[in-house]
Amino acid sequence: MPVDPVCGIEFDEDLAVIHEHDGKKFYFCCNGCRRIFIKKPRKYKNNV
Ligand SMILES: [Zn+2]
Repeated sequence: MPVDPVCGIEFDEDLAVIHEHDGKKFYFCCNGCRRIFIKKPRKYKNNV
């Protein structure tokens, strides 16, 4: 299961919000977490 790099929870891939950054796919539990990641990708991208 994917882990949200922003809030750290695990969730079903079917429910994920997907965002690509540096050629890598990141999965988020919701659009709010995705927006936080987009603002500060360097802070969160190593959390997965
Ligand atoms: Zn989240």
